[in-house]
Amino acid sequence: MRIDLISIFPEFFDVLDLSLIGRAQADRLLEIRRHNLRDYTEDKHRTVDSPPAGGGAGMVMKPEPWAKALETVLEDTASRPSPLAQSSSESSSELGSPLGSVTRALPVKPTLIIPTPSGEAFTQRHAEELAGAEHLVFAPGRFEGIDERVTEWAAEHFQLRRCSIGDYVLNGGEAAAVVMIEAITRLIPGVIGNEASLNEESHGETGLLEYPVYTKPAQWRGHQIPEVLLSGNHAKIAQWRREQAEARTRATRPDLWTRYTAD
Ligand code: SAM
Repeated sequence: MRIDLISIFPEFFDVLDLSLIGRAQADRLLEIRRHNLRDYTEDKHRTVDSPPAGGGAGMVMKPEPWAKALETVLEDTASRPSPLAQSSSESSSELGSPLGSVTRALPVKPTLIIPTPSGEAFTQRHAEELAGAEHLVFAPGRFEGIDERVTEWAAEHFQLRRCSIGDYVLNGGEAAAVVMIEAITRLIPGVIGNEASLNEESHGETGLLEYPVYTKPAQWRGHQIPEVLLSGNHAKIAQWRREQAEARTRATRPDLWTRYTAD
């Protein structure tokens, strides 16, 4: 998978060089490219924002630097197609714009993810779907967000997703992008050493949260591992875990519990 990140703080993404995602890059399962949005400005102050049309507080990200940065990513992708590329009916042969010839050369439109608190809620289902994508591009905003016309324009050239990571407002979309990238890339085969650990996780197929987990020592500061986990009886352990998962889901996430019991 290739991931392009466009931001006024590209160094924010240095955390992606750590741990499993860092190793996935070293193993060439993942290619991450960072772009500084200010490199696509044309004034000497490298301005990316201006006051909102119609007035009001704050600043809005100007459309032109975003379009230039996104065009550069598309042109670069077209000139260096991934060996994993497959042909698809999603190609943009209908496009008549100059960029149309670039996107026409792409067998599959890249997926552009715009993190925004006004987007659809990003869930494990999105992570599963996007883990199969070949090319993701993230456009994290700052200030009051990105001029809406970028979304309209980009929809012609990308598969577009506007995603929120939760019902709260961050200062910028970089942290949201990192969250989504962690959730997506850990599902790419080979990224996690022991893929069995993806089974029975919270927000998986069962619709339940994960049961409590323990490790050695059996006794710790007066607290004990539940006896059943030391019994060696796999059927009983599986039953105990299911009961715990149900109890935890019922207690902490009534919304998930309602869906689980309705199914
Ligand atoms: N004025 C915007 C609103 O009320 O919807 C919030 C702008 S926020 C201060 C700046 C940027 O942070 C957004 O453009 C978005 O990229 C990112 N952001 C903030 N909260 C987010 C969330 N919950 N999920 C995803 N991105 C978020």
